Amino acid sequence: MLHLDSIYTLHQKLKNKEISAVELTQLYLDRIKQKDEAIGSFLHTNADVSLAQAAHADTLIANDEMTMMTGIPVGVKDLFVTNNMPTTCGSRMLENYMSPFNATVVDKLLADGAVNIGKVSMDEFAMGSSNETCYYGPCRNPWDLDYVPGGSSGGSAACVAARLVPAALGTDTGGSIRQPASFCGITGLKPTYGRVSRYGMVAFASSLDQAGPMTFDARDAGILLQSMSGHDPHDATSSKFDVQDYLEGIDKPLSDIVIGIPEEFFTDELDANAAKLIDDARQVFAKMGVKFKSIHLPNIKYSVPTYYVIAPCEASSNLSRFDGIRYGHRAEGIDDLNELYAQSRCEGFGDEVKRRILIGTFALSSGYYDNYYQKAQKIRQVIRNDYMRAFRSCDLILAPSCPSTAFKLGERIDDPISMYLSDIFTITVNLAGLPAISFPIGMIDNLPYGLQLIGDRFNEKGLIHAAHQYQTQTGWHQQEPQGYGE
Ligand code: GLN
Repeated sequence: MLHLDSIYTLHQKLKNKEISAVELTQLYLDRIKQKDEAIGSFLHTNADVSLAQAAHADTLIANDEMTMMTGIPVGVKDLFVTNNMPTTCGSRMLENYMSPFNATVVDKLLADGAVNIGKVSMDEFAMGSSNETCYYGPCRNPWDLDYVPGGSSGGSAACVAARLVPAALGTDTGGSIRQPASFCGITGLKPTYGRVSRYGMVAFASSLDQAGPMTFDARDAGILLQSMSGHDPHDATSSKFDVQDYLEGIDKPLSDIVIGIPEEFFTDELDANAAKLIDDARQVFAKMGVKFKSIHLPNIKYSVPTYYVIAPCEASSNLSRFDGIRYGHRAEGIDDLNELYAQSRCEGFGDEVKRRILIGTFALSSGYYDNYYQKAQKIRQVIRNDYMRAFRSCDLILAPSCPSTAFKLGERIDDPISMYLSDIFTITVNLAGLPAISFPIGMIDNLPYGLQLIGDRFNEKGLIHAAHQYQTQTGWHQQEPQGYGE
């Protein structure tokens, strides 16, 4: 039952030579082959590449040069460029695209001896909340195949939930790690903006995008984050702030911390069953000695409209590089240059991506820039100030991860507003550049549901500690969907 083991446990087994990295990688490759067809979480695997990386890990282990990640297979969201597997970003635009280099995060993991087990499904260019905008077909929620796994890191969440891999990389621009983590019953951490290098991540909204770990539990999230984090000379927005030791002190009791409860998050938008589970989780924390305090974030009501100006503006600028000339899909049989640009983009991008490009281009056009993008940036600062004020009187902030559990495939795809509202509790955190973790706290009608804890800048350690302590008292993170435990 190795596939039920956390990174932490697998590390001990690899270290004690109970299993080799090559055997472990083969086991997961076999599971993916047997079980992923119904889910559709993997877009590409390459057994030769993964097994060669595993053989390298075994050498590191034999030479006593192992880290916590050595020999651990990781699913890689298909927007981290890799030089030995394609990177499609879930788009026709990048069908069969091979990058000449690796994303920094991928290189860091490989340097620690981790294994890239394959590239996983996502919403096209990370735009979406259901994984349904992926050009290569949707990915399904292993808890119930009629339901979406969430998005945009839906493939990452689904493959971890189905125990096809012990961990995956996700990215979170407005909630894309935390929302699918909640929908699939796993733990997902969005780090502080700048904690993890964005170099080699296909850009969506550069001032919001951040990569993070998606794992069974909080301790594993700390292990993976440790390996991913740090300053990168290739990314000027990556922070020089020291990477903390996320496992240090993780077993200490959670005494003396104050968790703020923002009243604005607990409104009618929240499902009543979800509110009940959050209440239960509060009791678990209270029993451990945590104090709660009611707080206010008066401007978070502006976060969805603010995000849906800033993100499309940055997307329209970032995606202008896909012109059919430099790389990506090129329309055939066209002589005129402008026509070639237009037709290549028309064929290469899906509807949601086009919608974002149109909104962004409009909002950035001359005469409108001040009214939209600049104004949104000002509101963003006001939202950030709300958080800064709140953190003067509490250590962490508790919030729902999502308004409800997963929804059905097809239910919201034609209604962009209802799709956008599924990120209502996560988006503010990206606007403020803060870290936040989502972890499972129970089930509603046989579907998992997650709680979100938000931290002050660079307080990933506090989040991991609190979620880990919760997980020492409860077993929600150890549940797996029916049919995927054996
Ligand atoms: N669902 C949000 C969007 O569509 C967030 C996506 C993300 O975090 N990548 O923009």
